[in-house]
Amino acid sequence: MLPLKEKDKPIVRKLLSAGCCPRCILRFCCVSVQAAYRQPQQETLKELQAFVADAENGKCPDSAASEPQAAAEPETPDDPPSKRAKLEPSVTAAGSEGDAAAAAVDGPKDEGSPVCVVCLGVLQEHCGPVPAAKMSEAVKAEKYEFDTLVLSVSLPAQLCVREHSCWLHVKKEVREKGLVQDKDDVIQVKEAFKWIMQGLVSKELGGVAVVTRSPFEVGVEFTHAETDADCHFLATTCPDCFRPTKNKQSVFTRMAVVKALEKISDARFLKHYPCPPARTTSSCSPQDVQCLHVSVFIAGRYNKFCRSLPQTPWVIDGERRMESSVEELIAAPILAAFRAEGFNFSSSGREDVDVRTLGNGRPFAMELLNPHRSRLNQEEMKQLQEIINKSSDKIRVRDLQIVSREAMSRMKEGEEEKTKTYTALVWTQKPIDREEIAFIDDIKDLTLDQKTPLRVLHRRALAVRQRVIHSMNARFLDPHHFHLGLKTQAGTYVKEFVHGDFGRTKPNLCQLLKTDTDILELDVESVDVDWPPAIPE
Ligand code: ZN
Repeated sequence: MLPLKEKDKPIVRKLLSAGCCPRCILRFCCVSVQAAYRQPQQETLKELQAFVADAENGKCPDSAASEPQAAAEPETPDDPPSKRAKLEPSVTAAGSEGDAAAAAVDGPKDEGSPVCVVCLGVLQEHCGPVPAAKMSEAVKAEKYEFDTLVLSVSLPAQLCVREHSCWLHVKKEVREKGLVQDKDDVIQVKEAFKWIMQGLVSKELGGVAVVTRSPFEVGVEFTHAETDADCHFLATTCPDCFRPTKNKQSVFTRMAVVKALEKISDARFLKHYPCPPARTTSSCSPQDVQCLHVSVFIAGRYNKFCRSLPQTPWVIDGERRMESSVEELIAAPILAAFRAEGFNFSSSGREDVDVRTLGNGRPFAMELLNPHRSRLNQEEMKQLQEIINKSSDKIRVRDLQIVSREAMSRMKEGEEEKTKTYTALVWTQKPIDREEIAFIDDIKDLTLDQKTPLRVLHRRALAVRQRVIHSMNARFLDPHHFHLGLKTQAGTYVKEFVHGDFGRTKPNLCQLLKTDTDILELDVESVDVDWPPAIPE
């Protein structure tokens, strides 16, 4: 039995004749008993018809049972007889139209009603076991791994206009008879849709909980081309609400329409739009089900053993310069393992294409977009790491692990204060001997003034930055070569310190050795960031 009260009768009567579906009528009566929406709509329709027919006959057994107070009320005297006369043929017509429509729709028997003027079929043929099964099949086909899901519904913007029109149609009755004061008190189409569908979808997916918050979202979108123009009058009444934006196809977004409806006066609305809304011949079209899993974050450290490998794809004027990159070599096996659709790569600083990164490697993190798999255990992560390491001898990763989005920010925290150690192969113009370079080992905390290097000036602003070389050591190789070890503040331009960058870095190694020097090779020996945590081998 529907939880309706005596006060709902004029509303039910008006909405039935306006062409509202039974579930939309429950919404406007603010019925919040979910089971009422789940029962077949033909059953609900019969109950509604019986409910108002009782009123016609001047007796109301339903409400007498559930609502003794309402039963004591006199029969709605403010309902003019003319309306009653209209009601009957309208309901009969609805019944016969329904038979015709039933043939066109494949599905259970309650899908044959005429298209509701408010929900445009969303709470009719698009709700129930058949659409739930279809939706679940679409989800299963994507082969996601998930424990729970959240259902999201996107409705055509014009539904708001129709809802508003319908609200104005019954506003007087609703306010007079009930506790409802505002359109917001009406149960939303989305809400009712979820009440009906969630349980059915859950059952189809083997009992997966359909909840309000989940990392996995299943989205259904409805469009209705026939009534797309319903919103257009709002653009003339409230041009401010409809400003073109770059990435939206239409200015008539749901948000803009809601905003315009809040501003428009009832009189103005009624001048431009029929009340109740006009009937349509077609119902909404469901679009493809969209599944989306929140990102998974992966962290680790990488070594780069190759002097011709950029960190990220190197493209100049649309043309690729190197066949691969650190991030691509790392990402490919990870994307495959998590069946993700894309990634964002970040790292603690970066090395030049000709610089190797040795030692424990450089911390990196990756955001995996829309992963179909989101959990790998320790053993599986270890296997994934091995796959990456076997796939190329140019790179190697360690400490590969799943991290939280929040933990990722730790990598960038205090990056400027961190230290890095390097080894540079240095050439000197003047011949040198061991003793001549020994003084380098005694230099501590040497502060450099570095003008933005010429080689990066095209992408960085001109500035002078102070950086500190904490310590250095020199290892003699031959009269024109030695290895220079450096421990520096992060962000120090080491190459420029060695060759001087035409005097743009001061002091520089040329000045210290009183001869021209150049850097032939550079290796990063360590990046002293204590994240991500080391994983024992
Ligand atoms: Zn409806």
